[in-house]
Amino acid sequence: MPVRTKRQNWMNNCCTRGLVLSISEHSESDKIVTFYSPDLGKAAGIAKGAKRSKKRFVNKLEEFSLLRILYTPPKRDSLHFLREAELENAFLSLRNTYPRYVAATFIGELTLRFTREHDPDPTIFELLLWAIQNLENGRAPLEICALFHLRILGAAGYQPVLDCCGVCGETIRAGQRYGLHTGGGVLVCDTCRGAIHGGSTAITVQTLKFLHHAQRAELGTLERLRLSPKNIAETLAILHKYTLHLLQHDIHSWQQIRTLLESSR
Ligand SMILES: [Zn+2]
Repeated sequence: MPVRTKRQNWMNNCCTRGLVLSISEHSESDKIVTFYSPDLGKAAGIAKGAKRSKKRFVNKLEEFSLLRILYTPPKRDSLHFLREAELENAFLSLRNTYPRYVAATFIGELTLRFTREHDPDPTIFELLLWAIQNLENGRAPLEICALFHLRILGAAGYQPVLDCCGVCGETIRAGQRYGLHTGGGVLVCDTCRGAIHGGSTAITVQTLKFLHHAQRAELGTLERLRLSPKNIAETLAILHKYTLHLLQHDIHSWQQIRTLLESSR
């Protein structure tokens, strides 16, 4: 039987980059890895013998690691078969620093919820990598969460309209008060608030202007945008309400984000 050299092995399979979003135990020796890749979108693969194989997988299959993955594509809707992984970046500080870990978990959960399998979007991969790299570089975790949440909504087709009232259509202006209507996920000015049922979460004009700019900015220039703690708290609160409305389901890691927000006041 011919022996495959390592080079042939890499040539006869598919290769992609992927950021690990979650890992679960599958059997005594296997792991299921869910990752986001620019070529595959959200994808799940089985790593056979992952707990035993020192060479192929050990210390590589960890949450938030960026990998080069050698895999065999699935037949129909089964799992990708992961053959080998090379570590591109472990982003170790995300697992060793609690606020960064919470933020990365929140970002990973949003990615899982707002993406589908077989629907690759390189923009989402770039955004995810931008957020994870910025957390690793020490940028304020809650600020990254706020910007990532805003941008993934847009990338997934759920861009909230934040520059005008969703009822009367008037452009936002200083002196007016606004809230995000929790039932319909639209911005409502104080004048229109009585016209719709249900409560709303208040947001200042300053935060709205920041967010409207952040929705349109190039990813590279987003790094220069600095939000105040008040901007961040308002942003996370309204985007959480909007997301609840969209998903009809809570984000598990929101509780830890809320605790971080409270302790940062
Ligand atoms: Zn209005």
